[in-house]
Amino acid sequence: MIKKKSCYLCPKDKNIMKRVRVRFAPSPTGPLHMGGVRTALYNYLFAKQHHGDFILRIEDTDSQRYVAGAEEYIIESLRWCGIFPNEGVLENGEMAVEPSPNHPHAPYRQSQRKSLYRAYAQQLVAQGDAYYAFDSAESLEALRQSAESKGEAFVYGPTSRATLDNSLAMEPHEVAKRLEEERWVIRFKIPQDHEVVFQDLIRGEIKVQSNTLDDKVLWKSIDGLPTYHLANVVDDHLMEISHVIRGEEWLPSLPLHILLYRAFQWQDTQPLFAHLSLLLKPDGKGKLSKRDGDRLGFPVFPLEWKSPEGVSKGYREEGYFPDAFVNMLALMGWNPGTEQELISLDELTHLFSLERVVKSGARFNLEKAHWFNQQYLRTKENTQLAQEFAQLLTEAGITFDPSKLLPIVELIKERALFVKDFIDLSDYFFTAPTQYDEKLLAKHWKEDMPQKMVAVKNFLFNIEPFTAEMIEHPLAQFIQASEWGMGGVMNALRLCIVGAAKGPGMAAIMSVIGKEETLRRIERML
Ligand code: GLU
Repeated sequence: MIKKKSCYLCPKDKNIMKRVRVRFAPSPTGPLHMGGVRTALYNYLFAKQHHGDFILRIEDTDSQRYVAGAEEYIIESLRWCGIFPNEGVLENGEMAVEPSPNHPHAPYRQSQRKSLYRAYAQQLVAQGDAYYAFDSAESLEALRQSAESKGEAFVYGPTSRATLDNSLAMEPHEVAKRLEEERWVIRFKIPQDHEVVFQDLIRGEIKVQSNTLDDKVLWKSIDGLPTYHLANVVDDHLMEISHVIRGEEWLPSLPLHILLYRAFQWQDTQPLFAHLSLLLKPDGKGKLSKRDGDRLGFPVFPLEWKSPEGVSKGYREEGYFPDAFVNMLALMGWNPGTEQELISLDELTHLFSLERVVKSGARFNLEKAHWFNQQYLRTKENTQLAQEFAQLLTEAGITFDPSKLLPIVELIKERALFVKDFIDLSDYFFTAPTQYDEKLLAKHWKEDMPQKMVAVKNFLFNIEPFTAEMIEHPLAQFIQASEWGMGGVMNALRLCIVGAAKGPGMAAIMSVIGKEETLRRIERML
């Protein structure tokens, strides 16, 4: 049944012939899930790699599910990740509404394209590929329930439609009358007893028996709007989309979409399809959901989302770097074929390939997410980190000497996963300990220690300049010469200065807090 030209056996040749044009087509029904960000990312990488176009299209024809603020959220999320569509969104972050050389297919918001879809639905009716249906929501619900009670699924399709309330077996004058008087929909007429065969770039050949498919609704008179299926296919055609890269949840819709392309005789320009597998829960059982995030303490959304139901965490607000987040997402379902894990967005545009996208779902791993952030943190300029740190300290109401931030960042950076960890890792730089670790006290603060500490204090008093180099070696020599155990004295000193067994080398810490404060902290213990 497949005509030769719609054959996908040589997609590579098709790639060469066509300009690559891909789109991310979210529906503004709430915050964008990280799986959606990954879909956008793969589309973006694919477009960049092929010097093609990456389009953002807002699929907002389902007015019931529309959520205010979701569109802005989507655009802001992509911007945070560094994923910029080159078509659909203007430089000021708004959707293009008027056609222009850079945005020739504007508007890119489907609700603003409303008027163009109806003719396509009617064309299908006129050529016998679609029909009008008048069934009430109640009657369909009853049929659904009765099928369910027999353990079956109700299909409004090739084998049942003749018995239902539609125009297929009606006289034209009756159809005309009912169209005037009632609510109606246009349904696609799935061909009967037909095997739909198509290719997915990730999954290979797929065959579906048409009798299992629904005659999906394409158009509704109630709001004068197309459904997702019609608007999506019409827009992919009009916007000259070459490749549809989207989530696996849309795979069941693909046979219908393929049949729509055929009905419109658009096979020659039909896009190639690639359906991405899901992001899975950490245990691998099922789709990664917001609830998993809440339960296990990680975000599933790029940015924080506030709604009357509450606040959902965002990677940005949790302190992830966008480049670390993007790197992690890229590797959830794709790999470069080497051991390389740290890959910048720019490098990804060269390395990415649909061939290496895996069929199986990718599990989310929180430790790995932390690891990515840690790796990126280590590569950040200390001056940038110091700036972010200053902001956090100010927010936390901690007073600090700005000139000390850079050396502190240098000392604690390696131990942090996030910049926000700096606060806990550095508390003793800003305030003298108020509590002393009990175990350390018992172990290292023996009877003769105050006396030794007085000597250490006097020794430190004479060091000038009070730098780590000037402290470290001479202090060790002094302790050795006094024939005291090195570990015991150094631990006791750490107790005085830090209060706990943490932090970098003592000479470095003391040089940062300065001589006066060092001596003062020792004094407090004596
Ligand atoms: N509007 C659909 C969504 O919300 C788009 C699916 C597609 O890419 O075709 O995910």
